[in-house]
Amino acid sequence: MNDAYEVDTVIVGAGIVGVALARELASAGRDVLVIEREKRHGQHQSSRNSGVIHAGFYYPSGSLKARLCRGANRDLYRYAESRGIPHKKVGKLVVAANADEVVGLQRLAARGAECGVDGLEILDADQARRLEPQLSCFAAILSPSTGVIDPLAYLLSLRGEAEAAGASFAMSCRVVRGELGTAGWRLWLAAEEGMVQLECRLLLNCAGVEAPMLAACLEGYPADRVPPHYLAKGHFFTCTAPVPFNRLVYPVPGSVGLGVHLTLDVDGSAKFGPDVELVERMSYDVPPARAEGFYDAIRKFWPGLPNASLQPSYAGIRAKIGSVGASQDWVVDMPSDHGVGGLVNLFGIESPGMTCAVALAQEVSRRLRVESLL
Ligand SMILES: Cc1cc2nc3c(=O)[nH]c(=O)nc-3n(C[C@H](O)[C@H](O)[C@H](O)COP(=O)(O)OP(=O)(O)OC[C@H]3O[C@@H](n4cnc5c(N)ncnc54)[C@H](O)[C@@H]3O)c2cc1C
Repeated sequence: MNDAYEVDTVIVGAGIVGVALARELASAGRDVLVIEREKRHGQHQSSRNSGVIHAGFYYPSGSLKARLCRGANRDLYRYAESRGIPHKKVGKLVVAANADEVVGLQRLAARGAECGVDGLEILDADQARRLEPQLSCFAAILSPSTGVIDPLAYLLSLRGEAEAAGASFAMSCRVVRGELGTAGWRLWLAAEEGMVQLECRLLLNCAGVEAPMLAACLEGYPADRVPPHYLAKGHFFTCTAPVPFNRLVYPVPGSVGLGVHLTLDVDGSAKFGPDVELVERMSYDVPPARAEGFYDAIRKFWPGLPNASLQPSYAGIRAKIGSVGASQDWVVDMPSDHGVGGLVNLFGIESPGMTCAVALAQEVSRRLRVESLL
């Protein structure tokens, strides 16, 4: 086995979760190597998101998402402040377009209260319009602790700290296969110089959308534990007209996504999205024709949106597991769950995964300690 490189801990995926985990484990003194298929970090979900620092009121109380998000929201503002990462606590309105949607709004507010989310307030239409005069709505929830951050500046900061703590990164290197031996995992990597082998004691699968596919290539990992998964693409559009809002504006959420919403970037520029399209393969094109569905969705809360003002911007693909439309928590699949030594899979790390990346890394690290793997 000594024709292969050796390292204690391999993290597959240099998205924000893999990088946050590298920072966490390297800071705890582990010898960590992050392996990333792309030339640069964060090329998938971690840069192709809305950049929203979520408050944590969308998720069932007791779920991992809910348990982590409230504290992660506060910690992320503190972290961004201390590192000079561009961010803004702009606040957000979730709006009911008509009386029928008020039930959904109340359900959301109740969930927020159960999860202990700070400062949520239900507003009637007049109160909401005093905040945002161009807004059309029947009622709204105001979430003052929702904000925005520059996702790549955040990722870069975490990566810098991971490297300063001793973590290494191997880019342009794809893990194609793994096999569990007596000494740990042997991995096959497709690198620029050809196929390379590597051995590690601990293997952490942070491959985002592709985490289930990677798990299926790890010999010994039970095939029936690979979760069903699907690709839910979301497109974003910018607007050529001035957008007259100072806060983020969201509709009452649908079953797969949060609904086409208005997000303000840290520089104040506006974008709309993401919608939901179930796709068969990874592709980030934004067909201009998708704008058609956006006009109706946006005019429910902003009737003044001018014709022909939306321009294709970018797209992202959510790491979805389970059945389409069903509520699904993140899965941290530990050796005590699946019975395979030295392997942790993170499945279904969709939103609010950027907000919670550090909190999730701390949670994984805690579970590793419980299983005497750290
Ligand atoms: C449209 C959209 C909007 C979102 N909006 C928000 C938001 O506003 N706020 C929020 O908190 N969250 C949001 N999210 C969720 C958030 O972006 C993700 O939860 C988070 O980025 C997940 O990070 P990750 O590191 O798990 O995955 P990724 O960023 O996808 O990283 C996985 C990495 O693994 C690499 N990889 C895959 N397979 C292999 C392999 N075999 N070998 C080597 N490398 C491999 C990939 O190249 C990739 O770089 C959004 C997501 C999407 C898609």
